Amino acid sequence: MIQKIIVVSHCFFNDAVKLKHQDMEAMAAERAAKRTFLLHAFSEEYEMIQLPCPEFLLYGSRRWGHAVSQFDTPHFRMEARRMLEPIVMQLEEYAAYPDRYEILGIVGIDGSPSCGVDYTYDGDWGGEFGNGDTLPAMLESLRRVNKPGIFMRILKEMLHEKHLSVGFYSIDAFMAGL
Ligand code: SF4
Repeated sequence: MIQKIIVVSHCFFNDAVKLKHQDMEAMAAERAAKRTFLLHAFSEEYEMIQLPCPEFLLYGSRRWGHAVSQFDTPHFRMEARRMLEPIVMQLEEYAAYPDRYEILGIVGIDGSPSCGVDYTYDGDWGGEFGNGDTLPAMLESLRRVNKPGIFMRILKEMLHEKHLSVGFYSIDAFMAGL
């Protein structure tokens, strides 16, 4: 029997890493989508690998929300590589035995500056809050951009370096492909 493996963002199993004061309605919808996905994955008897949460590990439970370009830094990219190295090594090992394992793909969280797959958000964010005068314009500069979050981008690069071909999916795309 071939064992089917999927790799998921950390917060599929643990919403405790999410940002404080998130939009509770949006968070409940995301949690419901993740639970539906997991129930399906368990019912199909997929094996699952949980990625680390880069934002929680680097910036903790009291971090601010970020625009994606704020994470596109040498430090974040280096730390992402360090966190992802053991994951890539595991995938390399599974991929070496296609008679035993099939890696179905990597499933992230669209919208996240780290784990977005098809889109994330960017804007002219950064600097001091000051007296707050510039804050509304800064916050309003946030817009959707159709590119992955930095953590997923680094994972894609690392897999490419190892000549591993693994698909990246949002929850919706993965479920639609079933
Ligand atoms: S960084 Fe990724 S794993 Fe962590 S909370 Fe955001 S989407 Fe979830």
